Amino acid sequence: MHTPVAQGSAELWYSDGSAGPLCEVDKADRDLEIYRPEVFQTIVEEIDRLDDELRALSLDIHEHPELKYEEHHAHDALTAFMEKYQWDIKKHHLLETAWIATFSHGTGGRTLAVNSEMDALPGIGHACGHNLIAIAGVAVALAVKAAMIKHDISGKIDLSRLSSAEEGSAGKVTLLKKGAYDGVDACIMCHPAPGPIHGASLSSTLAVKRIAVEYKGHGAHAALSPWEGTNALDASVAAYNNISLLRQQLKPTHRVHGIFEGKDMAPNIIPDHSNMFWYVRAPAWAEVEVAAPRVKACFEAAALATGCKVVITEPSEPVFDIRQNKALGTMFGDTFRSKFGPIDYVFGINGASSDFPLVCAMPGLHPGFSIPTVPNGGNHTPAFTAAAASPEAHQACLDVSKALALTGVRVLADDDFFSQVQLLPYPCLIVSSRLSGQQVKAAFEEDKERRAKILG
Ligand SMILES: [Zn+2]
Ligand SMILES: [Zn+2]
Repeated sequence: MHTPVAQGSAELWYSDGSAGPLCEVDKADRDLEIYRPEVFQTIVEEIDRLDDELRALSLDIHEHPELKYEEHHAHDALTAFMEKYQWDIKKHHLLETAWIATFSHGTGGRTLAVNSEMDALPGIGHACGHNLIAIAGVAVALAVKAAMIKHDISGKIDLSRLSSAEEGSAGKVTLLKKGAYDGVDACIMCHPAPGPIHGASLSSTLAVKRIAVEYKGHGAHAALSPWEGTNALDASVAAYNNISLLRQQLKPTHRVHGIFEGKDMAPNIIPDHSNMFWYVRAPAWAEVEVAAPRVKACFEAAALATGCKVVITEPSEPVFDIRQNKALGTMFGDTFRSKFGPIDYVFGINGASSDFPLVCAMPGLHPGFSIPTVPNGGNHTPAFTAAAASPEAHQACLDVSKALALTGVRVLADDDFFSQVQLLPYPCLIVSSRLSGQQVKAAFEEDKERRAKILG
């Protein structure tokens, strides 16, 4: 049943005490009734009991930042933690740094997947707060387990079927294709971001295509005989400028951004090669598919102008936009508003992307949660790295984990609720390792159209 929502406004949560701009939210409402308060109490007690250990785990991961597909320390720290609590562990599961911890109770029942993430960013450490996502996954899984035992709820939890390589790649999509999510009924996780004070967000994300570009030219002495050279760096510079011109003709909701990647360059050598790495993002994959050829034309034009050869590749899987499951979102939102704070639809990692959009394969929920930041110190800045280690961010992480855990328990325990979960988005179109990339894309777009019609 839909709960009437109290509209309101809230300030952004700034750690330095400065006043943040006001933003629209669904207000906190302490009078909202929540699903099975006695189960929520079990969840709260379990997560509070683990508080100090989770804090130590979070700081350990934060102090050992590792890049995509290299999260060996985090892999070992997290699996050791789960082993201590007698979970069934598969280390190095389908990818060297991915893992899975499993717990079952009773007979039959549904399977809930909980994701952690654990990768950091080059040079700036845990600037996306994945140390918090790592412990949120652990907290949710352990709290759901405690509730299953105490209240005798049948089902299975899989924690972190993957959790590797979210930044700059799409580890979850790779693992989805390898069949890691087969048999899962619903999948949940969360992500920190700037936002309203003590808030959580049910915003979406942008779809993204990643494009690698390599120009091949011909080297020469830059002063003695530059006319003998074909300048590959010039090709990259020209492509960069072409895209800067293109941006004015793109929709304001689109994002195209890239970098130069060079090595072995010197001012007295005409560069015979150069590399670039670009992202093309838009609110839906179909829009990415329209924008990407225009971006590729910029690369090709630069090759023509400079006489270089160009090689254009797409090094990672397609990443779609997140579609929050309606029933899971309402359940989570009501719990969060009753116990912790407001819900918004704008903040979270809206405008960024995630490899989470498994909602084409199964119902999913990926709320954002606010942590206190400084102005202009959002995700992917050194200031956010500091914010992700603060005690306030840790508490916010535990709060969102409690609401998420109750949502997960309801997936396992409440048949009527689960039939609502399956209803919206449209019960999709089974996507698994058996389907090709083209079929996955087609299924996803078909699902989106159907969902738009259902929502009117
Ligand atoms: Zn990030
Ligand atoms: Zn992130």
